[in-house]
Amino acid sequence: MSVAPTAMGADRSIRLARIRLGDLGSVHSWELVTAVDGPGTRMTLFLSGCPLRCLYCHNPDTWRMRDGRLTSVEDVLARVGRYRHVFAATGGGLTVSGGEALMQPTFLGRILAGTKELGVHTTLDTSGYLGANATDAMLEVTDLVLLDVKSGDPETYRRVTGRDLAPTLRFGRRLSDRGIATWIRFVLVPGLTDDPDNVSLVADYAASLAGVERVEVLPFHQMGREKWARCALAYDLADTQPPTPELTERVREQFRERGLLVY
Ligand code: SF4
Repeated sequence: MSVAPTAMGADRSIRLARIRLGDLGSVHSWELVTAVDGPGTRMTLFLSGCPLRCLYCHNPDTWRMRDGRLTSVEDVLARVGRYRHVFAATGGGLTVSGGEALMQPTFLGRILAGTKELGVHTTLDTSGYLGANATDAMLEVTDLVLLDVKSGDPETYRRVTGRDLAPTLRFGRRLSDRGIATWIRFVLVPGLTDDPDNVSLVADYAASLAGVERVEVLPFHQMGREKWARCALAYDLADTQPPTPELTERVREQFRERGLLVY
């Protein structure tokens, strides 16, 4: 004897099917920003879920996919469409960030493709750790990648993120082979990522990629601290100070020495 599903059960299976198709995804938040996360004025969309656990994460509240709000591709694209003229006037566009956007590759791919169809510039902000989730079709509709290379030394990378460095390096190489514009981002944390050898490895790697347009050295700050407390997480960097201007300059110079444009 078959049993008719309850309305609630039917809703749930429709929702799951829509998630599988990438029609629905888990969104943490979005914001309009200028001069960060890519060129021009941008809508930055933060997706929920991240496999890394960076010690300096500013958004630990994005780590769990279940904490995000289920949102449809249609809603995201409607919002992008509303700002189309602002993007056109400023050379801006959409940046999809996180968390880690590649945790939801089907949803992400549909957002990027839909945004391109609207004639809007697309940027993917990623650690690259899940780069294998990015299909070639997705990369076709990605104008720029902000690739966070959190360390050049695999052991330091593991200490910073809890994960392996190799997938990020592989993803960056793939972007290079495809000639995709890339900005490398490196967070400078005194006593954690500032070792000259560690920085040199990132700089050598950045210089070896074809599409790198710039490197952004981002000085560590304590702005994420409150969120760790709110998420009831132990924060290892509570006593870490931001880098001095001298240290930041030394690190930027290490990148400049390789002929890279550095911010
Ligand atoms: S990759 Fe980004 S969101 Fe994920 S833990 Fe690291 S800093 Fe946080």
